[in-house]
Amino acid sequence: MITTSLPRGGLEDGMTKTELIHQALNRVEDPEIAITLRDLGVLRDVEVSATCVDVRLVPTRVACPGRALMARRVREAVESVDSALETRLTWDHESWGSSDITPHGCSVLQEQGFVPESSADPVCPYCGSTNLRPEGSFGGSLCKRPFTCRNCGSTVDLLAGASLPIVSVS
Ligand SMILES: [Zn+2]
Repeated sequence: MITTSLPRGGLEDGMTKTELIHQALNRVEDPEIAITLRDLGVLRDVEVSATCVDVRLVPTRVACPGRALMARRVREAVESVDSALETRLTWDHESWGSSDITPHGCSVLQEQGFVPESSADPVCPYCGSTNLRPEGSFGGSLCKRPFTCRNCGSTVDLLAGASLPIVSVS
């Protein structure tokens, strides 16, 4: 995957430029949730050559409005290491699913109140009821769908675009 090895001189912590680029890209966060694109399963492949960086991304949803922001953050991460490098983004439209989230990403999501679900029926994270009422198509963003629990009255968000939905506690 790493196609070039660059001299170590002058780079912080003795890391190669390629390592620094990987490190910077691994820190890029999703525009909507405080989780890295790597943990979310969106950032897939990174190839660093002498003049450019090829990045393959799988969006959580094809029309997700966060895409432009993700692309900008990825470019900025590369430029933060070497502004002379060209960033080439590839959007892979194979379907993203919540199974693409790394184990670390799952625990990050759960710490923030997101509960990965294994069925198409969202379950209330407060009381476990499946008696949820959709509250329109869109929540705070186009990637979230709000539901209200008929059992306990809690409001939850469903992360759209995943075959296995994620429910978040609002
Ligand atoms: Zn409930």
